[in-house]
Amino acid sequence: MNLPKLAIASLGGTVSMQARAVGEGVVPTVSGATLLASIPELRTQAHVTVETLGMLPSASLDFAFLLSVLCWANYQVEQGAVGVVITQGTDTLEESATFFDLLWEHDEPLVLTGAMRSATQAGADGPGNLLDACRVGLAQDSRRRGVQVVMNGQIHSAQAVRKTDSMALQAFSSPIVGPTGLLREGSVYYLRSRSQRHVLPVPHQTAQKVALLQASLSADTLLLDNILTLGYDGLVIASFGAGHLSETWTASIDAIAKKIPVIIATRCGSGSTARSTYGFKGGEMDLVRRGALMAGFVCPRKARILLWLLLGCERQDDVSRYLKENVQFQ
Ligand code: ASP
Repeated sequence: MNLPKLAIASLGGTVSMQARAVGEGVVPTVSGATLLASIPELRTQAHVTVETLGMLPSASLDFAFLLSVLCWANYQVEQGAVGVVITQGTDTLEESATFFDLLWEHDEPLVLTGAMRSATQAGADGPGNLLDACRVGLAQDSRRRGVQVVMNGQIHSAQAVRKTDSMALQAFSSPIVGPTGLLREGSVYYLRSRSQRHVLPVPHQTAQKVALLQASLSADTLLLDNILTLGYDGLVIASFGAGHLSETWTASIDAIAKKIPVIIATRCGSGSTARSTYGFKGGEMDLVRRGALMAGFVCPRKARILLWLLLGCERQDDVSRYLKENVQFQ
């Protein structure tokens, strides 16, 4: 039978975890091939290849490794895969999804999935999520949508998705916009039409450093004041509310924004920064006057990925354009 080609890679995470001995806690040990063996139904739907590219908890993934995974995924498409599926830990899934989506230039879908329950836990969700992710990877309607995250019967666009619960099965959501699609009885349903994508060149530099600081009540300025001397090339601040900082932070922002891009994103978990509402010192209007850029709907972690990639291809001057295009709503 002439089945479509689907490529799967596993990187680690809870989906690949089990305990070596009772009471020891789970660690990544399960290979991609073993994960694939848990979904025999796929055999009748696709010609599948699988590779184990990593065995890492997702907190230990890094940009260099993700770039190598991107090369592997590009190669799979060049070899005729109609879709690519990657399993990884859920802790940083929202960040790697954004990272891949900003660099994914193919019409073929790249689908990320993981699990909230380890491979041997009762009610493990890994096999179901992987099968759903493969269905999304094979669906014609997934083409030209970039990177999707499939978890718990939902499809989320890479730019909107966030991990919003640390341990629940329903751990992922897309604030404001909701999921892009759903899986029901094995079928893929998209709820929104495609929107324009903005793909970046693969960075030719990878040594750039972007700091992410979070504003908190009565915080000192020690880290902030040392951002330039520590050699950072960009700064993202997870700010209060609609893009606000303490008055005590504002003088440092002046100095830093003269040298490196400074992005202010809201720490709220949903919603956007303002532009023209608050006039107090440390408010969004004041910070913009001092040279900071407002992230709009882009969350702090995704803003940091965007800035790192732009710095890597020397396109940092485009950052406000990318932020204005509300990358989240793709
Ligand atoms: N708890 C995580 C997970 O869901 C661990 C990780 O991100 O690797 O996979």
